Amino acid sequence: MTDPAGARTPEPAPAIEAKGGCLCGAVRFESNAFHPHVTLCHCSMCRKFHGHAGPYTTVPISRLVLNDSQGALRWYRSSASAERGFCGLCGSSLFFRSINSTQLDVAAGCLDGLTGMTTVKHIFVASKGDYYEITDDLPQLPQGSDDPPA
Ligand SMILES: [Zn+2]
Ligand SMILES: [Zn+2]
Repeated sequence: MTDPAGARTPEPAPAIEAKGGCLCGAVRFESNAFHPHVTLCHCSMCRKFHGHAGPYTTVPISRLVLNDSQGALRWYRSSASAERGFCGLCGSSLFFRSINSTQLDVAAGCLDGLTGMTTVKHIFVASKGDYYEITDDLPQLPQGSDDPPA
């Protein structure tokens, strides 16, 4: 497979082990299977949900260990095909998942400490806010991407 932009590596990128949680700590989660690449989504729904672009890594739902002993995790059905998870106590915006998907997108900003992850592309750039510019050299997709995780 050729890739003029050099954005895709020939080898599968190694998974990342990390812990994370919401601001108040009621919702905690961890996995050893986070994707090391982060996608910044500039769509209007991500910007409203997060207050800015959504910085998503992804993990198989079956590989995520969730600790929500207070039942604080809430889900908001943001469209016919997707829902977004947040802490009902402190309001932290944590998760995105397509209905029936086996993958969970996790906001990388909610991970603890150094992640070892790297932002690799911008998506839904056509609907980004006008109050900021994208000043890096990463690929910019006008809409979403159907590519497998890069
Ligand atoms: Zn919280
Ligand atoms: Zn988005």
